[in-house]
Amino acid sequence: MTTHERPYDVIVAGLGAMGSGTVYALTRAQGRSPRVLGIDRFSPPHGLGSSHGRTRIIREAYLEHPAYVPIVRRAFDLWRELEQAAGRPLYTRTRGITLGAEDGMLVRGARTSAERFEVRHRVLSAAEVTRNFPGLQPLDGMVGVVEERAGVLFPEHCIAAMLGLAERAGAELRRGETVLAWEANGDGVVVRTTAGEYRGARLVIAGGAWMPRLVPELAGTLAVERQPNHWFVPYSHSEDYSAARCPVTLWEYAPYRTFYMLPDFGDGVKAGVHHEGQSVDPDHVNRQTSLEEVARVADLLRCFMPNAEWQLRESQVCLYTNTPDLHFIIDRHPSYADRVVVVSACSGHGFKFATAIGEIVADLVAERKPRFDLDMFRMTRFQTFGLELMTDNQ
Ligand SMILES: Cc1cc2nc3c(=O)[nH]c(=O)nc-3n(C[C@H](O)[C@H](O)[C@H](O)COP(=O)(O)OP(=O)(O)OC[C@H]3O[C@@H](n4cnc5c(N)ncnc54)[C@H](O)[C@@H]3O)c2cc1C
Repeated sequence: MTTHERPYDVIVAGLGAMGSGTVYALTRAQGRSPRVLGIDRFSPPHGLGSSHGRTRIIREAYLEHPAYVPIVRRAFDLWRELEQAAGRPLYTRTRGITLGAEDGMLVRGARTSAERFEVRHRVLSAAEVTRNFPGLQPLDGMVGVVEERAGVLFPEHCIAAMLGLAERAGAELRRGETVLAWEANGDGVVVRTTAGEYRGARLVIAGGAWMPRLVPELAGTLAVERQPNHWFVPYSHSEDYSAARCPVTLWEYAPYRTFYMLPDFGDGVKAGVHHEGQSVDPDHVNRQTSLEEVARVADLLRCFMPNAEWQLRESQVCLYTNTPDLHFIIDRHPSYADRVVVVSACSGHGFKFATAIGEIVADLVAERKPRFDLDMFRMTRFQTFGLELMTDNQ
């Protein structure tokens, strides 16, 4: 085992969406760049965590909570900046539409955020939706909230761009090395991996589905969910589903039950049922999808997009890491607030924020006041977590 004596300013454990956003933000800051070490057990971008599958939705009329709107606006700016720095396309505007009953969770949430933050949007009846977007046929009584700026990010390219730029700016990235343990020691941290031991002034933990292994206090709070995705090729009316014509869509197909569909970028439309998957151990995930899982999504496409003949092209399994309220954790570790930051920004909707969250985390480790109120992302907001800490401390 090698011990690396020279301490780093910041060590980042996990280089998926949030970790790559963090190393990028740390190294793009003006002035002296901190000495940054990033470590990942795999070789990001990879297909075993939460950030694969070629496309991610980015939207602004944020149905989950209006507090996300200013953060996603900052993320939009930073994605554009990243795109320029990387010199390759990372985002395509398709527009977005949120569909469901007028008083349903999705439509209410999107309208509340859009109205509160003056997001450019239109509310269309079911018939107007079909007139505007011939591929989509909502049921009578459904409405659609259309937003102009929504679109698609290409997650593997985004992660590769952030890691590449961070590395060019001097970050040391170690791939294929697993963080086994860490401890706060003196006024810094010591991180032990499968290859050695590193000392740092600050530690950022962004382990995605493996967070509870790295922050055991979160074991009772975070639940990992198996999330299958499917790509279907439209064999008729294919132009109605092309990325040029069809927006990204979120559907509340029954009360509190939702699915998403992203338009065809040449490999078919991508669709999945949101949050109805099994709880899993991230090291023992069944990566095969069943006929039943495929049929469920195919039935939803046939119901709401009946123009096309749908043919399955591919399925993949991805992982959601959910908090009980489905909001993120972005916080200083309650026991080591001066040196450890914990980031679990998933619950099935975190990717779009990765650039902005990287910037927030960079502010936290540098003891700068973050530009957003992080109160709703506190690690200790869940009662079970507080109880565990109390028990541990007794
Ligand atoms: C199917 C699917 C669809 C989604 N759709 C959207 C969408 O449309 N829009 C959106 O905004 N969000 C979406 N999300 C959510 C978004 O993708 C996640 O919020 C985001 O990818 C989470 O990033 P992360 O950094 O937390 O996890 P990851 O990107 O998985 O990164 C965690 C990293 O930590 C590493 N790691 C773990 N343990 C260790 C260890 N001990 N040592 C070293 N490294 C370690 C892993 O190897 C991994 O690379 C979707 C997610 C899924 C699964």
